[in-house]
Amino acid sequence: MSILVYTETENGKFKKNAFEAVSYAKTIADQAGDTVTALAINADDASQLYKYGASKVLVAKGDAHKVSPEVLGKLISEHADNFVVLAHSNEGASIAPFLAYNLEAGLITNAFEAPQSISPLKVNRKSFSGKGIMLAETAADKKVVTVSANSFGVKESAVDGSSEDISFDAAGGKVKVENVETNSGKLDLKEAEIVVSGGRGLKGPENWGMVEELADLLGAATACSKPVSDMDWRPHSEHVGQTGKAIAPNLYIAIGISGAIQHLAGVNSSKNIVVINNDAEAPFFKSADYGIVGDAFEVVPKLIESIKKYKNS
Ligand SMILES: Cc1cc2nc3c(=O)[nH]c(=O)nc-3n(C[C@H](O)[C@H](O)[C@H](O)COP(=O)(O)OP(=O)(O)OC[C@H]3O[C@@H](n4cnc5c(N)ncnc54)[C@H](O)[C@@H]3O)c2cc1C
Repeated sequence: MSILVYTETENGKFKKNAFEAVSYAKTIADQAGDTVTALAINADDASQLYKYGASKVLVAKGDAHKVSPEVLGKLISEHADNFVVLAHSNEGASIAPFLAYNLEAGLITNAFEAPQSISPLKVNRKSFSGKGIMLAETAADKKVVTVSANSFGVKESAVDGSSEDISFDAAGGKVKVENVETNSGKLDLKEAEIVVSGGRGLKGPENWGMVEELADLLGAATACSKPVSDMDWRPHSEHVGQTGKAIAPNLYIAIGISGAIQHLAGVNSSKNIVVINNDAEAPFFKSADYGIVGDAFEVVPKLIESIKKYKNS
């Protein structure tokens, strides 16, 4: 018996969530006395997954972005045994329901820690856009679990592994992918460890120079609130929140963002939140680990100066 994990790639490289999903699958496999098999589309170096506990990697050729989630669900179900793990990303969350339907499996999404028991499966999951915790349970024989980003972490557990090419018919499916828009920033927003984000408090697109400079210095990706992208100050690919991207970096720096519930829905899984706002009553401060009450146009340049000094010292 083997736990199957679907591992996401971008241009042939594994995403960070692939390593986290394999780490999660390995923990379940250890609990159940099983091994881990990974399945990837278009992976240049399958052996990278052995380090996290995948003893077998099935590699199919193709571009997962251009394939219907229904077709990917079918491919994964053909190789699945009775337990499948995916990342709770846009890709994973859109494949999982098709997969669960094909396997007639119980589906638990957004799990953030190792299961309390495997059979029946009991695991804590995030609910209400990360504001609540729910202990979910399924007694189904087959199980599909999606893992919340950056919640379980990437854990090394090296095994001897091997890989195998598998055939894959990318055609078909009722969902057609018309267009794939990639992030305009230098770093992929969903993958970034640090994100510097700006809101309407920055007054206009001409003021984003300091946001980009701070992001460059920190090796961070840039993001923004919804009104900012609606007004075309920044591209829609940077919009985070309930109707934008959901991210979970280690550090989220919010500049001139009020902290509306719809914004928080996409960022409150961040490990550390720093809020810079000139209104001490701004709701974002309630969710912040660190808060700076001040004018962004004074605080951010000072922050940039201090980071430069620190880097040069
Ligand atoms: C159905 C629905 C879905 C939505 N989805 C999203 C979503 O996905 N993402 C999202 O972001 N929003 C979303 N919204 C909008 C959300 O409700 C807020 O309106 C939005 O997040 C506010 O954006 P903001 O914080 O940039 O702007 P504002 O609310 O205008 O806040 C600007 C902040 O900047 C501060 N500020 C002003 N000047 C300065 C300065 N000089 N220095 C420092 N701080 C300053 C102000 O004190 C204020 O707190 C959604 C709304 C609805 C109804």
